[in-house]
Amino acid sequence: MRLQGKRILISAAAQGIGRASALACAAEGASVIAVDINEEGLAALAAGGDTIETHRLDVRDRAAIDALATKTGGFDGLFNCAGFVHNGTILDVSEEDWAFSTDLNVTSMYRMTQAFLPGMLDRAGKTGTVSILNMASMASSIKGFANRAVYGTTKAAVIGLTKSVAADFVKQGVRCNALCPGTVDTPSLRGRIASAADPVQAEKDFIARQPMGRLATVDDITPLVLYLLSDESRFVTGQAMLVDGGVTI
Ligand code: NAD
Repeated sequence: MRLQGKRILISAAAQGIGRASALACAAEGASVIAVDINEEGLAALAAGGDTIETHRLDVRDRAAIDALATKTGGFDGLFNCAGFVHNGTILDVSEEDWAFSTDLNVTSMYRMTQAFLPGMLDRAGKTGTVSILNMASMASSIKGFANRAVYGTTKAAVIGLTKSVAADFVKQGVRCNALCPGTVDTPSLRGRIASAADPVQAEKDFIARQPMGRLATVDDITPLVLYLLSDESRFVTGQAMLVDGGVTI
C-alpha cells in the first residue's frame, strides 16, 4: 500500500477531486481526515469506510482551522484542494468577487499551511519526509483562459505560494507541490455548464479545448495526487504538475 501509515488531511473533500482523493488515499492505506463545509457530502463519504474521518471545516475560518490543528496533531500529507471558479473577465470582477476568490483560493492555503506545518515538521523530524499539495490549475501562470481573470490570478498565486513553502522547508523534509488539472468533470463543472446560456454548447466548448477530446474524470487526477502525497515523489518539490489532457502541449 502506497500510503500505509500516513495521516493525510484533505480539504474540499465532500465532492469532486477532493472526495476522489480522500477515497484513493484511504484505499492506499492512509488514515484520512476529510474536511469541507458540505456536511451532507462528508456524511456520505464517511459512510464509505472507517479509515476516513470527517470534520466540518470552513477553510476561510482561521479560528476553526487552528482549533482543528490543535485537536488532530501532525500529518504526513496535507492536500489544500478548496477553490472556486469565478466566471468573467477583469471587467466583470467586483471587489467582493475578487476578495472572495483570493480568500478561498489562496489565503485559505496560507491559513491551513500555517496551522498544520508545525505538526508536519514534527512528523518530518521522525519520518524524513512530509508532503503538502496545493490545488492550482492549468488556468494560472501556466496558461491564460477567457473569463478566468480572478481564478487564473489566484491559481498563479497558489504556484508562487507552493514554491515559497518548498524553498523555505526543503532542508527540513517538507515537500510542497502544486497540482494543475485540465477541465475535470465534477459537480461544480456541471454547475458551470448548467448555468451557461446554452448548456449543450458550453459542454461542447469545454470538451473542444481538451486536445484528447474529452473532459478529465476525477480518476484521471487521483494517480498524480497519490504520487505527490506518497514517498514515490520523495525527490520532487516546488513543482507545478500538469495533468491536462494535452491542453498545454
Ligand atoms: P467542486 O468545485 O465540485 O467542489 C468543491 C468543494 O469545496 C465542495 O465540496 C465545497 O463544499 C468545498 N468548499 C467550498 N468552499 C469551502 C470552504 N470555505 N471550506 C471548505 N470547503 C469548501 O470540486 P472540484 O471541481 O473538484 O474542484 C476542487 C479544486 O480543484 C478547486 O480548487 C478547483 O479550482 C480545482 N480545479 C478544478 C478543475 C475542474 O475542472 N473541476 C480544474 C482545475 C482545478
